[in-house]
Amino acid sequence: MEPKGILMVLSGFSGAGKGTLVKGLLRKYDSYALSVSMTTRAPREGERDGVEYFFTDRQGFEETIKNDGLIEYASYCGNYYGTPRAYVEKQMAEGRNVILEIEIQGALKIKEKFPESLLIFVTPPSAAELKRRLEQRGTETSEAIAGRLARAVEESEGMEAYDYIVVNDDLETCIDEIHRLVDAARRAPVRRKKLIREIRTELQDFAKGAE
Ligand code: 5GP
Repeated sequence: MEPKGILMVLSGFSGAGKGTLVKGLLRKYDSYALSVSMTTRAPREGERDGVEYFFTDRQGFEETIKNDGLIEYASYCGNYYGTPRAYVEKQMAEGRNVILEIEIQGALKIKEKFPESLLIFVTPPSAAELKRRLEQRGTETSEAIAGRLARAVEESEGMEAYDYIVVNDDLETCIDEIHRLVDAARRAPVRRKKLIREIRTELQDFAKGAE
């Protein structure tokens, strides 16, 4: 298999369980690396700088944009979120599948810049289940929950832009399903350019030799 890893985007409604899925992928398979994003949002209880996010202020964020330090960024519920460039490039060069857990505007920018990226959208089995999970999380005010539901309506409009949609009903099943999709995607011609080139050249040489 070609050594270059896949750039994989995992999006989904807030409360769809993306974070838990990512942790599961990292725990079960050693071929993944998670990109830690930069954000201007305040840390939630228990979140650590450099682990869940790199927390910064608007000025720090805008400075990073100016220095071309992000491969994409977007504004979400009043805050900036972006993907630092250096880590992604290094991990991919080392053959890992890099996971970007980002929202839809960022996902679309990634697809535009990197047509070989794989876009996966995660959804709970139903809207009612999504609402229940958001309320149960208990880390947010009812106003923030309302904001996230409104945003979910917008995001549902963009689901067709993704390569695959997975339903997060049973966690372990969903983790394995995502892994199978990534594994299959690595075999798509768009990601096997080197192999195609080599076989084609060799065949041409053989054919010439046989003339
Ligand atoms: P939260 O505040 O719940 O941690 O994240 C809010 C949204 O921002 C989620 O949909 C999350 O996937 C998205 N997000 C996190 N990091 C990034 C990033 O680097 N870029 C973009 N475009 N979205 C991000």
